[in-house]
Amino acid sequence: MGIDLSQQKYQITDLLGKEFTCACGKKHSSAIEQIIIENGALNRVPELLSTYGYKKVLLVTDHNCYRVAGQKVERLLASSDLKWKVMVYKRDGDLVPDERAIGELFVQVEPDTQVLLGVGSGVINDLVKYVGSRLNLPSFIVATAPSMDGYASDTSSLTLNWLKTTVTVRTPQVIIGDLDVLKQAPVEMMQAGLGDMIGKFSSLRDWKLAHLITDEYYCEFVAELVRRSVQKCTERINDLNNREDTAVKNLMEGLVISGIAMSFVRNSRPASGAEHHISHFWEMSAMESGKKAVFHGIKVGIGAIITHRLGSILYGRKIDFAAVKEKILKFDEEKWKEEIIKLYKRSAPDILRQKEENDSFSVVKHANRLKKIEEKWDRIRELLTAAPNGEQIETLLKTVGAPTNPLDIQVDRELVYNGIIYAKEIRSRYTILRLLWDLGLLEEMAAEITSCFLKNTGSDN
Ligand SMILES: [Zn+2]
Ligand SMILES: [Zn+2]
Repeated sequence: MGIDLSQQKYQITDLLGKEFTCACGKKHSSAIEQIIIENGALNRVPELLSTYGYKKVLLVTDHNCYRVAGQKVERLLASSDLKWKVMVYKRDGDLVPDERAIGELFVQVEPDTQVLLGVGSGVINDLVKYVGSRLNLPSFIVATAPSMDGYASDTSSLTLNWLKTTVTVRTPQVIIGDLDVLKQAPVEMMQAGLGDMIGKFSSLRDWKLAHLITDEYYCEFVAELVRRSVQKCTERINDLNNREDTAVKNLMEGLVISGIAMSFVRNSRPASGAEHHISHFWEMSAMESGKKAVFHGIKVGIGAIITHRLGSILYGRKIDFAAVKEKILKFDEEKWKEEIIKLYKRSAPDILRQKEENDSFSVVKHANRLKKIEEKWDRIRELLTAAPNGEQIETLLKTVGAPTNPLDIQVDRELVYNGIIYAKEIRSRYTILRLLWDLGLLEEMAAEITSCFLKNTGSDN
């Protein structure tokens, strides 16, 4: 193995630029060439572009990020020898990475453009990586907030045909995080970054569950890499409130490492499980009803409280496997389809097709999984009781003032309940939600968790 994680001293740069054979049997590598997270890093943008021999740059940003950093980068480009063009997305509401936004960016790329330079966070990063990949152009990203873990990933999260979709793309060639910019990010964005990281406890547990129950590929090295990056973020969590350089740097590095971990296994498995599916479900519902979007990581953090509470309840249950086997035969697929059409609206056809292709409700497959679950029940229970539990996750999020109750982010009782039951349909990925479904406990536990959030606020509606 090329990198020893037990050495606390390993640097992000140790993860770049080389391919190594891992104990999991795969070769891991990241195509990112440089990651620079330091004070004043913006000033290095022109020099970095020139180092790679680029002469013509398309700077892509949105209205806010232009003000925060884009304008300064533009000035730096203007005083260099580089040729550049600026594209600023203009929207009244949120910029959505959909067909319209993709098309707008395509049109701005000129024949002599050699590199796309994104200045922004989540959506800008997704768009720049995606369009760059489609046009076979490299991308640089200047991060404006430590708000999500997608900077280094080889995927873009897009909204195509109203469905949240993950598309494989080229990772950026260079990631630049100027601490002087990052630490000025709005507090909600810092909370979101931390929420996205804390969600990894849930994603990693789901990955291991999938490995145990469905034999899905699993890499302990990558899991450990993500675990340590979460640790890094939470170590100085109190200093994050004071926006101290080291705490902001740790958070940004943790987010970037999580992205590298995803590119190591070529999918988002190590960093996205049921907590993300719940967040996506809420987001799609908000989009359908035209509500203002809440930052991804804020929802993911609350999603993780839910999935870990579910884990604790399941841990305490005595499972009668014989009774569950009986119950399998009673699943009402038609009723389920009706609910999907009602809840997912425009994205329902895609989901139904996906289920058809994967033969998701096969009684035989279900019975096989149950057999595995029964065989490995002790090992599964160990995973369910491993720290942190829902309360500990809640405490971590509260340390930075992040919301911890769905009601705080306009997710009502019905949406919490439906999210727990139907979020698993967004991806064909095994998670705790599918485990609960396999055990015939999903609806009952969804009701239990939903009422427990309402109790917390003392609300009765
Ligand atoms: Zn591996
Ligand atoms: Zn995420």
